[in-house]
Amino acid sequence: MIQPIIDSRVIDKVQHLLNGVKSIAITCHLSPDGDAIGSTLALCHVLRRLGKDANVVTPDMMPRSLLFLPDVRSVISFTQQEARARKIIEAAQLIFCLDFNALHRIDKLGQLVMANPCPRVLIDHHVDPEPMFDVMISFPDASSTCELVYRVLMQMQLLKLVDRWAAQCLLTGMMTDTGNFAYNCEDPDLYEIQASLMRRKVGRQWLYNMAMNTFSADSMRLQGYAMDQKMKLYPEQHASLIVLTADELKRYNYKRGDSEGLVNKPLAIPGVEWSVFMREDPEYVKVSCRSVGDFAVNDICTKYFNGGGHVNAAGGEFYGTLDQAVATFEQLLLELFPNVPVNNETATNNEI
Ligand code: 5GP
Ligand code: MN
Repeated sequence: MIQPIIDSRVIDKVQHLLNGVKSIAITCHLSPDGDAIGSTLALCHVLRRLGKDANVVTPDMMPRSLLFLPDVRSVISFTQQEARARKIIEAAQLIFCLDFNALHRIDKLGQLVMANPCPRVLIDHHVDPEPMFDVMISFPDASSTCELVYRVLMQMQLLKLVDRWAAQCLLTGMMTDTGNFAYNCEDPDLYEIQASLMRRKVGRQWLYNMAMNTFSADSMRLQGYAMDQKMKLYPEQHASLIVLTADELKRYNYKRGDSEGLVNKPLAIPGVEWSVFMREDPEYVKVSCRSVGDFAVNDICTKYFNGGGHVNAAGGEFYGTLDQAVATFEQLLLELFPNVPVNNETATNNEI
């Protein structure tokens, strides 16, 4: 039995808001991932089956890796179709904000969303959401926003509208945000939710392969190169750093999404407790951090890299050169571990 965790008064409020409206916009964070697109598409699909005029609007383009999702072509990205995106947000009588906690995470859409006086409903699992939502369904301990969308639909007695398409979208986000149920995966409810979605004939094996195990040859080669040549270990600080320059990305014909998952890999080495990945993008250095246990990488990303995220998975942007970003990381090591020398080595040993 899946326990209801959302306050029934909150569920009633969402129900009440839904009853009174026809046009609904659903949005999610920049550089959307499987959870962002999975949760928005699933909710959109269910709301359409409920007779609503619902649309998903994203701040920017989605990665090619998610184009397998059902009805994904209906997603309107602000950077690709600005006029349409604008029209939908402006006409919305209700806006669902999924998988983000702060306005800057939806970039230019933020202004449009705030200019519309209609109610905003947050469904999210990031810490400390900004107070700009009329209804907040915020559970930082949840595995994914997709799990929360399932729970909202369950508590609203709308699971009958979750068909195969919606189930595929929801399971995708649960898989991608937990590394196929490898982390944030201790809640037994997750497996009941998964079973319920699988009963809708999602094709789990296919879904896993599409969502988590499809890489271009260029991407495989880039990741191999990064692991072999670019992974630095900092044994005293139990840290790992991988840095990829713009030239290296070009050499491997880099496309968005090609470095996905790379930051997780060093955590498999015994002794590595946190891992940082830096990528030299055109406008900034993209920083991704992962950790195990209580080591809070979201605090690091907030303080040093204009970002944030979860305790064990966070990211941000560094505005400066790649060398400055690396220097900032090494300075951070000194601050976190005073009096411990910053020595790094390439990964030749088996443990650190
Ligand atoms: P990734 O490293 O995969 O880009 O992001 C991991 C997690 O960190 C995301 O789910 C998101 O919660 C958070 N994150 C990534 N980039 C940013 C950023 O620029 N700002 C904030 N606030 N969070 C980010
Ligand atoms: Mn998420």
